[in-house]
Amino acid sequence: MWGKRHKKLAIALTCADWRLHQRKVNLNARLAKFLGVHGIDLICVPGPDGLGKPGREAEWQAAVAQISLLIGVHAPQAMVVLGHQCCAGHPVTDATHAADAAAVAKALKAVTGFPGPIKAAVAAYRSDTAWDLKAIAEF
Ligand SMILES: [Zn+2]
Repeated sequence: MWGKRHKKLAIALTCADWRLHQRKVNLNARLAKFLGVHGIDLICVPGPDGLGKPGREAEWQAAVAQISLLIGVHAPQAMVVLGHQCCAGHPVTDATHAADAAAVAKALKAVTGFPGPIKAAVAAYRSDTAWDLKAIAEF
């Protein structure tokens, strides 16, 4: 929209953690490459892969509303739910991060009816400025 109709966009639901959003990490551009698009709309909440947990229903509903708005105005081609290791917002094992990111991606597909691919991925920790993007699943 607004003259950018030729740009392919995607939505990333990821963590608010500052470490992911440092210039050195270059997360936005890496996610665009990962999803094969020009630009990424970011929804950032602490521990996004934990949004299916009991007690986080209001946060989940808010994220769904924000994502639904972006689907409507930006016609995105794809989405990703990106959890990360060493996450204070969802402090679980690495294996649980992978499983929970997949569960949230699957739930997002069901609740939004989004026709494109919704991927689940985890940013694996190497250092505060070095994270590896690991694809987990696609719905
Ligand atoms: Zn986090």
